[in-house]
Amino acid sequence: MSALLSVRALEKRFTTRSRGLFRRTTHTVQAVADVSFELERGSALGLVGESGSGKSTTARMIAGLLAPTSGSIRLDGVELAGAAEAVWRPQRRRLQMIFQDPYASLDPRRTVGATVIEPMIVQRLGKPRERRVRALALLEAVGLSAAHAGRYPHEFSGGQRQRVGIARALALEPELLVCDEPVSALDVSVQAQIINLFKELQERFGLAYLFIAHDLAVVRSLCERIAVMYAGRIVELAPRDSLFDSPRHPYTRALLSAVPIADPVLARTRERIVLLGDPPSLHAPPSGCPFHPRCSERVRVKGDRCARERPELPHESHSAACHLSVK
Ligand code: SF4
Repeated sequence: MSALLSVRALEKRFTTRSRGLFRRTTHTVQAVADVSFELERGSALGLVGESGSGKSTTARMIAGLLAPTSGSIRLDGVELAGAAEAVWRPQRRRLQMIFQDPYASLDPRRTVGATVIEPMIVQRLGKPRERRVRALALLEAVGLSAAHAGRYPHEFSGGQRQRVGIARALALEPELLVCDEPVSALDVSVQAQIINLFKELQERFGLAYLFIAHDLAVVRSLCERIAVMYAGRIVELAPRDSLFDSPRHPYTRALLSAVPIADPVLARTRERIVLLGDPPSLHAPPSGCPFHPRCSERVRVKGDRCARERPELPHESHSAACHLSVK
């Protein structure tokens, strides 16, 4: 069976212009480069990395909020990259986005019931009574109740507002939810509740998730596969257990060393890898491997190859773009 979502060689470059005293200068920022992955129906892929790694830009291109510079985004075989609105319109029902800040994405003047009904009106789905019944059922599905339908967003907590955002995203019966850091703004205890809700909804509605997070711990329980991004590229892509048990890229190892461990004895014995320096400037990315200025393991690669030659991401079930992981 073909993948629900297939992304190939996706690129996004932004051009910025600044006016100096004598001339205007143009800069190009390579925000996303050569990103490829597939997502099966009913499964979840986590996209993880620091701020500026390109994960949110990738999500926004897939959701149709940003036009890719080049590359392909296929939803069930339909090409969406650069597609006209007539192509996008029927696909929007199948692909919905959930945002990091639920408050900013909800209209403060609209009741929660009206918020959930709105996408059904836009897509001309059902009759008014059917829409109301469906909105109430969705509020219950996300752990709210019919009594909440007449309230406004400011009357809810952050976690409840994210539940409203999820109910609204489900209104059109999507197959794929693109979730852009949906729990980052929530308290840790509320994060766990919302992650559990995502799992329940996945089982109930057969949803696929592209789940963006900056923290590997967040995607661990939800996503079967995880892609780690650095400086606009995927540097490691692997099944979850394989990635957690035997990470191959030094950047992934550093991220994993920061994941909290519940067992205090294990936590004391674990080596914490502290990354030196900052993520690279996307205006002027480093030559060779983009991670090389921060990588403590480059000394193991002969002839300073890391500074000269960018390692490719191989096509394997567990792949890492690192000269050390090439067999
Ligand atoms: Fe480190 Fe070199 Fe591997 Fe890059 S290619 S992650 S610099 S060892």
